[in-house]
Amino acid sequence: MNTEGKIVEERVNVERKRRRCLMCREMFDSFGPGNRICKKCKSKQAWRSGV
Ligand SMILES: [Zn+2]
Repeated sequence: MNTEGKIVEERVNVERKRRRCLMCREMFDSFGPGNRICKKCKSKQAWRSGV
């Protein structure tokens, strides 16, 4: 079996998929791992980065 390779492939796919923003619930193109917030909300959050 070669499940490891498949998991990695799926994970990359998910990372490139459209996701729903956790902040505003709008769909956006996720461009990286752990990217669950759209650009708009990310820029909004920038000032809170110290939290
Ligand atoms: Zn958003």
